[in-house]
Amino acid sequence: MSGVRVIYEADGLADAESGGVRGGAVLIEHREGGGAWVLARGTATELLAHEGAAGAVRRRLEGFVVVPALVNAHSHLDLSHAGYMAYEADQGFPSWIKGVLGVRRSVTREIQESTRLGIEMSLAGGVVAVGDICGVMSEAPLRVLRESPLGGVGFIELFGIGMHEQKGKAFVAGFEGGEAGGGFVKGMSPHAPYSVSGSVYGEIVRRGNGIPIATHVAESIEEREFVREGTGAFLEVLAMIGAYAPPHPPAHPKNVSFGWDRTPIEHVLLGLRGSSAPTMLVHVNDCTDRDMEMLVGWCGEEGVGARGVTYCPRAHEYFRYEESLGGHRYREMLDAGIPVALGTDSVINLDLSGVGQRITPLDDARLLYERDGMDARVLLGMITTTPARLLGLPTELFTFSEGKLAGIAAVDVRGTDASLDPIDRVFASRGGIGLMRGA
Ligand SMILES: [Zn+2]
Repeated sequence: MSGVRVIYEADGLADAESGGVRGGAVLIEHREGGGAWVLARGTATELLAHEGAAGAVRRRLEGFVVVPALVNAHSHLDLSHAGYMAYEADQGFPSWIKGVLGVRRSVTREIQESTRLGIEMSLAGGVVAVGDICGVMSEAPLRVLRESPLGGVGFIELFGIGMHEQKGKAFVAGFEGGEAGGGFVKGMSPHAPYSVSGSVYGEIVRRGNGIPIATHVAESIEEREFVREGTGAFLEVLAMIGAYAPPHPPAHPKNVSFGWDRTPIEHVLLGLRGSSAPTMLVHVNDCTDRDMEMLVGWCGEEGVGARGVTYCPRAHEYFRYEESLGGHRYREMLDAGIPVALGTDSVINLDLSGVGQRITPLDDARLLYERDGMDARVLLGMITTTPARLLGLPTELFTFSEGKLAGIAAVDVRGTDASLDPIDRVFASRGGIGLMRGA
């Protein structure tokens, strides 16, 4: 099989496996029908002498650093039509959720249009794989995703608590996940502990068959109160959507899974007990020392699918969780061996002024580089190999090791200090990123 061979020569080359190489070059074969193969990497002189370089086109990318295409561990591409919406912190997170329910589209064609916009914005951000929460008990967005150049996991979202619990269980019983075509796997996303009961989580474990799972958990202070006490603003939201009829809360009957003084993490890990499916816990903004210990144990279990946490830095800032819950503990998680990937969450919480119309975890990683002085190589792993692993994709698709590559991207690093390591320039820059698709 042959295709277009290109030697990309840039100011530098960087991947999570080898770090940054100044003046590095890579010989890529872009094959017909899509896909790129790394034939060799090294200096331009070495590659020109390589047996595979005959007929190769040289592309000199001055002012750019070349990286593997990115993975966004957590997105909601079907909300892309909504655009950025300011957050009223005094109204609280439950009120924001009501706002999202208000903008969510219900007509299939419109949902798919919004998803298409999200796909374009992802590609514009150098992203080729996503862990997308696509469709509430519907596959309309997944049908668009699998026709797109993106791959990854399309997590079908489900709700089921209170009066909606039976409906949630019935959905799980009839759910068929797994290979979905077009580079996608169909997974399941029980929305969150305040919208999915413990027994529905249990039903997912019983019926899941190893289908990948992503669930939002430990996101807000209101969630903590709801799970611990069974009270607070989330009950009002549940009453609003008809999951509970007043008077509420119900008086702690045994079939009500919240109100048992558990943290959201304890609650969800209890619900998922016995599962061997690859599982991603999204947010984990609210994490006690005990939760941290439990997560270490849970991630370290053997004989189960990949497990880890997805942190959405810009969403965390947007909701001002630092004020209500303190800083995110992702660095302690990494130190403790918990895999942490970065996600963007939906476009609603992404202020794109200054970066343009793109949905990319590169911008979240840049925030951590600037704010926390995070190590650039660790960051590149959090937007390539770690989310790949959590989504069940081969990690070598996202490094420049010889063989198949999910995609190649060039990051504009003009204006950054040229004496920095190329991998640092990727994050120090505010410039764009573009996918390379052959000469
Ligand atoms: Zn989300």
